[in-house]
Amino acid sequence: MTPGQSQKLHDAVRALMPVAEDIFTDVRAASQDDIGVTRPAWSIQDQAAADILSAAARDHGLSTRQDAIGNSYATLTAPNGAGRDEAAPGILTGSHLDSVARGGNFDGLAGAVAGVVALAAIRQAGLQPGCNLTAMGIRCEESVWFGIAYIGARLAVGNMDRAEFDALVRLDSGQGIAAHMLDLGIAADDIWRAGPPEISPANTKAFLELHIEQGPVLVEQNLPVGIATAIRGNLRFGDAICYGSYQHSAATPRRLRQDTVLAVSELLQRLEALWHEIEDGADPSAVFTVGKLFTDPVHHALTKVPGECHFSLNFGSTEQASQDRFGAAITALTAEIAARRRVRFVMGAPVGSSPTRLDPGLRAGLVQNAGRLGIPCTEFATVGHDASIFARAGIPAAVLLVRNNDGSHNPYEKMAMADFEQGVQVLAATMMELSA
Ligand SMILES: [Zn+2]
Repeated sequence: MTPGQSQKLHDAVRALMPVAEDIFTDVRAASQDDIGVTRPAWSIQDQAAADILSAAARDHGLSTRQDAIGNSYATLTAPNGAGRDEAAPGILTGSHLDSVARGGNFDGLAGAVAGVVALAAIRQAGLQPGCNLTAMGIRCEESVWFGIAYIGARLAVGNMDRAEFDALVRLDSGQGIAAHMLDLGIAADDIWRAGPPEISPANTKAFLELHIEQGPVLVEQNLPVGIATAIRGNLRFGDAICYGSYQHSAATPRRLRQDTVLAVSELLQRLEALWHEIEDGADPSAVFTVGKLFTDPVHHALTKVPGECHFSLNFGSTEQASQDRFGAAITALTAEIAARRRVRFVMGAPVGSSPTRLDPGLRAGLVQNAGRLGIPCTEFATVGHDASIFARAGIPAAVLLVRNNDGSHNPYEKMAMADFEQGVQVLAATMMELSA
């Protein structure tokens, strides 16, 4: 882009902020639930979000459609025939339309709105992309609805088989996924018709996702936007139990105790020490959380040695080596502590995911465009987003984070429109540049 074109695009993004604000307001109104929003996957609420976005996209000259899964697309077609062919490789942006129950309005939606606004701005500025640019509203990123995350993105890239799909049941309604889709007129059978996946490296050159930051780093550093270096993987034990024996607290000498709380406490302290060691060493992305820790309220008492203790372990990192090291330590420490303290750990099967690398070229492009626009930013690791599914499908992917106060997955998340605008400025400029 020439400096004049960059200025035009900048001005168009700024001029479209009231449109973005209207979309946020309308979608919020369609999914308001107490002080938060609830947009279950494949519900009238996330369909309303898709419809509101598509209507706004059409108002601004973009062409819209919905795929067999219900993901929605708004496309700015390249002029001069460059991207006329539907299958010609294009650049994709977007994020998810669903929310957690009584969550915030911006988680996911910010990225879907950003895509439509960026493309509308490019068109309004009179710029001509060298390939099709598409903004996507993705179904079902949140795992709270069907027990697993990224269902819409996985179906779009052909990364789910029918057996896995057919087994999916919505946790709150007890109804199968196909029944929920059918409520919206989406026939699940259509998903499995033969043909290439909706999105693949053959038709998509890059996927850029704007998402609110779900942690406090940008607030701490007083920066409007961040560029993700990688998406953390994780190693999780959701329902671990330590078994010992309930004993009289005064009558049992230490050598004869089988105290599960002290055994679990030792395990946690030693794992925390290992976390610090990893974090201080080569892997600052490492995070460790014990989200659950409790004794059995039916049996526990002030005067009893606790005979049972439940806990969870959740380790995340962008480095597979760190995850492997943490996993090995859990195995070794539970064995050692169990033998010495005469308890038994039943950890259950670990679940988790591998870390996802984000594309170095795209990351550099985002950083450069932020710099060119005078928007201060920083780079750090992020949590799981739809982008990880596109990256794993072989599509170069990157994530642009926007400052957000008060965390996420709660009604209090706060994103200033001024920060959102900075994110859209970087997104629009980078998409234009990539399309050249
Ligand atoms: Zn999200």
